[in-house]
Amino acid sequence: MKKVHKGFVIGLVTFVFLVVFMVHNEFHIADFPSLSSVFAQDGIGVLFEPTDMGKAHREVQKLLRSWAANIGRQNSALLLEATANLDSKTKEMIQNLAKAPVEVAGSRVSLKKAGQLKQNPTGNMLQNVQAEIQYRYKDGKQDEWYSLVRSFSFVQQGGQWKITAYQPVDSLAFFETGPTLEKKSQHFVYLYQAPNEQQIDRVIGETEKAYQEVGNILKLKGKPPYPVLLYPRESMWQGGPTVATASSQYYMDAAGYKVTNQYVSINMEALEKTADDHSFYTTLKHELVHVYQFPNLPPYVPVWLLEGMAMYYSSDDKSYLFRGSVGKQRLNEIVLSKLTASEQLGEAAYGVNSDKQQQEYAFSYCTVQYLVATYGETKFKAFVQSYSDTPWPEIADDIPADIHRGKQNKWEKITTKLTDKYVKQYFGLTEKQLEEKVKNHISQMDTES
Ligand SMILES: [Zn+2]
Repeated sequence: MKKVHKGFVIGLVTFVFLVVFMVHNEFHIADFPSLSSVFAQDGIGVLFEPTDMGKAHREVQKLLRSWAANIGRQNSALLLEATANLDSKTKEMIQNLAKAPVEVAGSRVSLKKAGQLKQNPTGNMLQNVQAEIQYRYKDGKQDEWYSLVRSFSFVQQGGQWKITAYQPVDSLAFFETGPTLEKKSQHFVYLYQAPNEQQIDRVIGETEKAYQEVGNILKLKGKPPYPVLLYPRESMWQGGPTVATASSQYYMDAAGYKVTNQYVSINMEALEKTADDHSFYTTLKHELVHVYQFPNLPPYVPVWLLEGMAMYYSSDDKSYLFRGSVGKQRLNEIVLSKLTASEQLGEAAYGVNSDKQQQEYAFSYCTVQYLVATYGETKFKAFVQSYSDTPWPEIADDIPADIHRGKQNKWEKITTKLTDKYVKQYFGLTEKQLEEKVKNHISQMDTES
């Protein structure tokens, strides 16, 4: 299996700093939608209306709250009791939900989008209500809530509301796709399906080993336990044709950023193809570098630095991609400032695992390797740390207004500004000069080998 460093997926950026930031005098209040306009847009204001529509929404909200409280109770009858006329596939999904490895009483639900009320003499219907279900993993961290957005429809029968449709709005949750088993190791909670004990044991052994090895190299302490989701089929997961990914969510508040909900996913189908080589272990180390990085680095660290470090600290030297005349051509295609401005390596149009993406990862490795070799690790680490130490007033004006909309490259302005500044400050170079130096360094290695 050829590994891709699609790597880390920065999750949803949650928007909890609205109010605090509104009083921040350097902040442009006009850039943000007010809370009431958010309600208006999603129609959730209906919850306060003294209309039939409002009443129906309040009643299904109540139903959903007690329904969600039964997730993880290992009793699917409890969840199915509140439903009517579900097709067998949806029923199965809900049965799996009942057996999800989530904390009992660790689920809660809130309405996200109002639905449409259809009034019938035989029974009213409320369709396409969106709700967010939040849950905590059993044996996971007590303060970390994962979430799913699901679309529900309801019918009112004899005064009682019942759920008649349950559909994913975002991707399927791992534990909706089948009965999930759980195992624990020192630093991880493994969630898996269709037991293949030999493979599970291999994953446990190698994640623990990689976690400790990477922690020693980086001299950092993590914040375990981390969930590890073992996807039995590649088609089920979002990580592309790689063997492992690490994910996290950024929460912003006035004090800065905070990272939560970190987890590792493993593509078991790809894993089985790596039985005879070290590529799984190298990928694990790469992803665990990200796990250690996330809480320490803000979302505006350039992606080449994040990925370059992940490759450097997992000894994943791909500089051979720049050898010979084809390599020279690849090297000429690299523009460091373009990498700084993007949030992902490789261009969407070329797909994951493309040559373009591979050469950008390779160049990121070379850049970090060059900086450490030339300026020493202490200076390199100080350079990285400077992003975290940037005072908020310095960047507040450029914090993207649509931080919660999942727009691409929203940190571009801040990342570019800070990278220009810190590359100059620590290495006395412009970004272009750094690019040239790394390219010369690569060409020299090529002539020497
Ligand atoms: Zn990565």
